[in-house]
Amino acid sequence: MPTLRLILGDQLNHAHAWYQKKDNHATYLLMEMRQETDYVAHHIQKVVAFFAAMRAFGESLREQGHRVIYYTLDDPQNQQSLPDTVSKLIQEESFDHFEYQLPDEWRLDQQLKTLSADLHEIGVSSQYYDTEHFLSGRTELAEHFKGRKTYVLESFYRMMRKKHNVLMDGNEPLTGQWNYDADNRKSLPKKHQWPEPLLVEKDVSEIVAMLQKAEVKTIGRLKDPTKFGWATTRQEGLKVLDYFVKNLLVHFGDYQDAMTPEGWALYHSRLSFLMNAKLLHPLEVIEAVVEHWQQNQEAISFSQIEGFVRQIIGWREYMRGGYWAKMPDYATLNKLNHTRSLPDWYWTGDTKMHCLSHAIGQSLDHAYAHHIQRLMVTGNFALLAGVHPDELDAWYLGIYIDAIEWVEITNTRGMSQFADGGIVGTKPYVSSANYIDKMSHYCGSCHYDKKKKTGEGACPFNSLYWHFYDRHRDTLEKNPRVGMVYPTWKRMKEEDQKALLRQAEDYLEVINDL
Ligand code: FAD
Ligand code: SF4
Repeated sequence: MPTLRLILGDQLNHAHAWYQKKDNHATYLLMEMRQETDYVAHHIQKVVAFFAAMRAFGESLREQGHRVIYYTLDDPQNQQSLPDTVSKLIQEESFDHFEYQLPDEWRLDQQLKTLSADLHEIGVSSQYYDTEHFLSGRTELAEHFKGRKTYVLESFYRMMRKKHNVLMDGNEPLTGQWNYDADNRKSLPKKHQWPEPLLVEKDVSEIVAMLQKAEVKTIGRLKDPTKFGWATTRQEGLKVLDYFVKNLLVHFGDYQDAMTPEGWALYHSRLSFLMNAKLLHPLEVIEAVVEHWQQNQEAISFSQIEGFVRQIIGWREYMRGGYWAKMPDYATLNKLNHTRSLPDWYWTGDTKMHCLSHAIGQSLDHAYAHHIQRLMVTGNFALLAGVHPDELDAWYLGIYIDAIEWVEITNTRGMSQFADGGIVGTKPYVSSANYIDKMSHYCGSCHYDKKKKTGEGACPFNSLYWHFYDRHRDTLEKNPRVGMVYPTWKRMKEEDQKALLRQAEDYLEVINDL
């Protein structure tokens, strides 16, 4: 039966059963579409990375002898919407059958369900397949926590370690301890030097010119399109993985939470895009890390690899499970009723707050910030200021190279903004300047004074922190994880409380000028 098989831009899994033998009846379809470039304003490097990866993947299928139809964004046959292009092709080329891999976004899942029903009406059958990428099923997390209102990562993480036999000794953790998070919170010593991130430097001028000609609205910067840094093929991805394992793993855990204006990736792996596009499989990443550690146990402590394994087998799968358990309602949650607009400088980095100007600036330069920059700088400020989660979602979904809704929205609305009321994270991640100063080298060269809470030059995080807790007392006071915040607030003199709240209000009024 002549079959059309759809491959979405984040389904570039070379090991999928589809490709293991040549099927003369199957035609593979990849499309660059306006429906994907335009649903938010994406970073130029994100669009380029996806298109470059898709083009290389389509080419590799052709080289293996598969029949491939590839529509570039400027192809006259391209209808720019998934259902329109597929329907047109099916009718023109007389396909009898349509197949797709289950998408990871709700939006696309709905679109493909509707398309399949429409095709059925005209006598074309459809079938879907698993992407063969994730380590847990779409509903596995919901089943694991059946009957409970909130989810707890640790319990899911332990289940996943057992299920995939990762760092295990029978039914027990290899070292007798499950979690080494407490060992992984060091700040960078002043004179410490870390390895430079591995950049591939490929020419993507053709894609950039096409996007400009089509007037696709993008954000961010790509200084030299002849030297694009991100890996977009499996071979390049394997080099990035190898570089991480050999050069960065040794301090991954130690400096996982550290920040400095001198570096943008530090000891982080930069593997999220490669995994999210499915060019690399999470288990092969974990196996490479564990194998390297096994051969270098004297040089690499266990806490480095446990921390890394937890991010992938734990957090990454946990966020995906949470997404499928709670969508579509999840995308509308706003537990703290935040309504403020995102400050203008989130789009330019033009703020006097050094932590924010650096975290946003590097995001615009590289389409990347590491986890603590996203959570405890940009996310922290937005939560303290009360920015609407819709605005935050659009920003995070656009700016990062790895941003796909299943992992972006759970991290943003859930972990970072507490807009889900504590489904994925048990407390709001907010801090005053104290934490940022402890974990970074930002405050020393900031326009604001990290120690001052009120008055000229006081760090905005300090008063906004108390303003946040004061205005959300009803929701947060009974949260056991909020700890000593409210007793400390109550012990403060009333005039000090008032001064802090007034300072915060003053800053919020001029938020675009901070
Ligand atoms: P490393 O620090 O080297 O970590 C290794 C891997 O662990 C990552 O590649 C990633 O696959 C996984 N991982 C680590 N933390 C998480 C997490 N919280 N959730 C899911 N996976 C995790 N990650 C995305 O992939 N896409 C997003 O759109 C995204 N948006 C985020 C938004 C906010 C507000 C926050 C706080 C976090 C977000 N994250 C997102 C999670 C995390 O910040 C990135 O996965 C990580 O920074 C990617 O860089 P890396 O590959 O160098 O990660
Ligand atoms: Fe950020 Fe405040 Fe430190 Fe400046 S003083 S870098 S605004 S935390």
